[in-house]
Amino acid sequence: MKHKKVAVIGAGIGGLAVAIRLRHKNYDVEVYEANAYPGGKLTAFSQSGFRFDAGPSLFTLPRLVDELFELSGKDPRDYFEYIRLDEICRYFWEDGTELIVPADVQEFAREAEKTLGEPAENISRYLSQSRLKYEVLSGLFLEDSLHKFSTWLSAKAFKGYLNLPKMGIFGTLNEANEKAFKTSKAVQMFNRYATYNGSDPYQTPATMSIIPHLEYNVGAFFPKNGMHDITQSLYRLAKDLGVRFHFNEKVTEIIVKDGKADRIRTENGISEAFDAIVSNMDVTPTYRKLLPGHPHPDRILDQPKSGSGLIFYWGIKKEFKTLGLHNIFFSDDYKTEFEYQFNKKEIYDDPTIYLNITSKHQPTDAPEGCENWFILLNAPANDRQDWQAITEKARKNVIAKLSRILRCDISPLIVSEEILDPVMIEHRTSSDQGALYGNSSNNKFAAFLRHPNFSKNIRNLYFVGGSVHPGGGIPLALSSAKIAADLMA
Ligand SMILES: Cc1cc2nc3c(=O)[nH]c(=O)nc-3n(C[C@H](O)[C@H](O)[C@H](O)COP(=O)(O)OP(=O)(O)OC[C@H]3O[C@@H](n4cnc5c(N)ncnc54)[C@H](O)[C@@H]3O)c2cc1C
Repeated sequence: MKHKKVAVIGAGIGGLAVAIRLRHKNYDVEVYEANAYPGGKLTAFSQSGFRFDAGPSLFTLPRLVDELFELSGKDPRDYFEYIRLDEICRYFWEDGTELIVPADVQEFAREAEKTLGEPAENISRYLSQSRLKYEVLSGLFLEDSLHKFSTWLSAKAFKGYLNLPKMGIFGTLNEANEKAFKTSKAVQMFNRYATYNGSDPYQTPATMSIIPHLEYNVGAFFPKNGMHDITQSLYRLAKDLGVRFHFNEKVTEIIVKDGKADRIRTENGISEAFDAIVSNMDVTPTYRKLLPGHPHPDRILDQPKSGSGLIFYWGIKKEFKTLGLHNIFFSDDYKTEFEYQFNKKEIYDDPTIYLNITSKHQPTDAPEGCENWFILLNAPANDRQDWQAITEKARKNVIAKLSRILRCDISPLIVSEEILDPVMIEHRTSSDQGALYGNSSNNKFAAFLRHPNFSKNIRNLYFVGGSVHPGGGIPLALSSAKIAADLMA
């Protein structure tokens, strides 16, 4: 039997996942990737004896990765191992408050009461409501196409309609959190979940309160060989299944014939005809660069973008016992920090610092007596700011803040350094304005202002990855691949 042929543009996690799913559906799959390596944002590098995961550092819903191996009749553990973390995060404030959040919800609630003065039942109640909201809303908003009539008539949709009054989806995340918690520190901790899709807690809808459910009730995980192992193992699986990869092969045009996506043009020439084309490239440049002369869904493409990141990768010649795998050093003025990010499009002078240290779990990631520090600041998407000036100022502020809170001069401990800014993110992965999660989720219609996983105008053209439905981040990019593959015959 003649197999159908599909081209996948991009080998990010969304592209790898859809390639595996389509191979399972017996397609002949060719993946065209501009870079010399697979993984897109989910990649890694080594420098002076330190190993760094370059992009994501938090791993939730690992079953979505396991599912790809199981679907292919493979044992995921032959490819990829991870552990469930018994500590979620360490939080630090300038006033000297430190809170280590354990994975066990009741223990966390007790710790929050002891350290922050937040009544334990507020934490437990919030997390059970977060679970309920996730169970009701995820089926509708995260697992199916919102752009097919059948979705709105499904049992999942009716469950959503019936539970709508209980969902607390009106108002902003910050408003919901101010109602749920007594202390400003607990509000801040739960406001931070807006940043998991690059949005602003003072604007994003209260539905985002479903996010903590993943970390606390389902769990936070760590791949034994680092985050990079997620895409490395999926790449190995795809190759074992017969997916063909073309690296250093940037796609420059999707050629449409008789209203149907037909061939691709790369820097090396024109491909054979395909039965379908799936773009894992950000949807905005897919239309604007690869499909010039075709109608574009400008209303969607012109939506404000999610936040980006400014990342410092530092090799540190010291070990800090007070730090864990995930650490947050909060800004004293969270609201102003987001005003800077989304309105002024700058980084506030007292930024919230996320510090990830994989050598806490994988000692070979740093030389003996040292630690590999991945420091992420929430940054605006690229709007042609002076990134050199922003970076220099932010670097000074980060060093000063960490030195103050850790009571140790950090500067002389930095023995190796790399930096990633929004311009570089855009350059390396074609993400529009270097946004980490596509369009922003800073309004209540955001879910409907993401592009569907298929084109409404061009037949046989599909979309996966963090810039389209259901959204950015590893779990949602994986979900987009499932939705797109399910839509394909
Ligand atoms: C610093 C950072 C921290 C993050 N932290 C987290 C986290 O902790 N947890 C989490 O879940 N998510 C996190 N994210 C977000 C997460 O990385 C992304 O949502 C996810 O990896 C997006 O995957 P993707 O498949 O959409 O595409 P990408 O990873 O963007 O890959 C797209 C691929 O397409 C290729 N491509 C683009 N254009 C072309 C073309 N014309 N021809 C051929 N190939 C092309 C690119 O080279 C790239 O390889 C983070 C991201 C960054 C950058």
